[in-house]
Amino acid sequence: MVLENDLEVLGAEATAFLDREHGLHIGGAQVLGSDGFSIVDPTSGRVVSVAAEASPEQVGQAVSCARKALQGPWSSFRPHEREQCLLRLADLVEANQRELSEIEAVCSGRLLANTRGIDVGYSAHVLRYMGGWATKIAGQAITPSIPYIPDGHFSGFALRRPVGVVAAIVPWNVALGLAVWKVAPALAAGCTIVLKPSPQSPLTALRLAELALEAGIPEGVVNVVTGRDSAVGAALVRHPGVDMVSFTGSTDTGSRIAVDAAASLKRCNLELGGKSPLLIMEDADLDRAIPAAAWAIFANHGQNCCAGSRLYVHESRYQDVLAGVAEIAEAIQLGSPLDETSTMGPLVSEAQQQRVLGFVAEGKREGARLVAGGVGLEHPGAYVVPTVLADVEPQMQCVREEIFGPVLVAAPFASEEEAIRLANDSRYGLGASIWSKDFDRIGRMTEALQAGAVWVNVHNALDVALPFGGWKSSGPGVDLSEQAVLAHTKIKTAVHHYC
Ligand code: NAD
Repeated sequence: MVLENDLEVLGAEATAFLDREHGLHIGGAQVLGSDGFSIVDPTSGRVVSVAAEASPEQVGQAVSCARKALQGPWSSFRPHEREQCLLRLADLVEANQRELSEIEAVCSGRLLANTRGIDVGYSAHVLRYMGGWATKIAGQAITPSIPYIPDGHFSGFALRRPVGVVAAIVPWNVALGLAVWKVAPALAAGCTIVLKPSPQSPLTALRLAELALEAGIPEGVVNVVTGRDSAVGAALVRHPGVDMVSFTGSTDTGSRIAVDAAASLKRCNLELGGKSPLLIMEDADLDRAIPAAAWAIFANHGQNCCAGSRLYVHESRYQDVLAGVAEIAEAIQLGSPLDETSTMGPLVSEAQQQRVLGFVAEGKREGARLVAGGVGLEHPGAYVVPTVLADVEPQMQCVREEIFGPVLVAAPFASEEEAIRLANDSRYGLGASIWSKDFDRIGRMTEALQAGAVWVNVHNALDVALPFGGWKSSGPGVDLSEQAVLAHTKIKTAVHHYC
């Protein structure tokens, strides 16, 4: 078991990028920050790179460049030219797969297989899909009546125009992938963007901005500002030159952003936290449901917004499912994300490790039964052993709060009604999955679950062509699909009067 990253195995491109003096990406150029902050490898606690701190003036400069590009060169790009840009960017993301996936794995601790497949592979897929929408954004044409103007004829149009300058603020848990989820629909719609990545893993966003230039996207269309805490994001949200805020992150930050954005009536797209339930009914195929339940929480080390973090199982199958999930948890190989034999890396930071272990300790104190894990490793690195807390009660903190780590809480239920009641007893409503073969029951439960996404006999199945967004405190927002593109447009109606 190799626990610490061996940075010698990195390709020359990733090594060179980590070693660079990083700046901000403003108006197509690298601009040195007012200060720097450390990027730490969570397998060792060692500093692997230094990112730039943007001053409030530099945030303003990035917004001005985005505005200039919006009104200037980018506005003259026809839809098919925007499409071509996004297609070229997809090709470039793929061509730089090794560099991007290695940088992301080193900074975030996520497995290389995951950063390769999701941050690079899925991102290229999203860029191509969104590129296709650039030529298909349609408005409406009608024949108006307007009875109080009796003479002549009218044509009426509802046109969709880019909303303007978008501030995109993203977290670290799929840092490049989520940046692309924001950038791609914004550019397809003709907007320009100032991207603010997370301080834990900001480097791939900077590399993405360079690749955007290489793809022929004009200077100033994609800008990136970085910072060590909330100040840069907050300055961006409050900036009067920003038209829309597109945010993915925690519910607490999302509500602060909503308040800040309301002062200047900016449009907000908020994709927030989750505590998604997985419901295994008495007729479920356990050969499928057990591994799916385990990986619904343990994939990406539990750092997925719609991780299946609450497991509810019919009482007749509860002990079998718990035993199966615990067996999988115990077989997980913790190790360096760069080692292809690892099946789980560390969490993103020591602070996150301590936060997650704190939830486990509190869960045990409140009476949950520890079935697996519950500890870190006797080694530097933000590792948390995959954990299962059983027999939990609805009021426990580990059931109510998003832990965002490899911690599953589980409880039995006696009836379909009780399963639905437990699942819906949460302030969150991002995803939910049902495991059953009974078609009528699946229909009923799909209707009854309060979640933006309901999956049946699968969990966390996100398709780029389907909208993805939460209910309740998981946020008013939508990513992916045509909806995400339309969310970046504003309506202009035009009425033509002719005699
Ligand atoms: P976070 O809310 O702490 O930070 C997210 C981003 O917001 C970071 O870039 C951060 O620097 C910035 N930020 C912090 N305070 C700000 C402020 N006051 N104004 C503007 N920007 C500010 O979240 P995190 O810990 O980075 O990420 C984990 C969270 O993200 C989890 O809650 C997870 O569920 C959520 N998430 C949601 C989705 C979704 O699609 N719903 C997807 C992935 C992650």
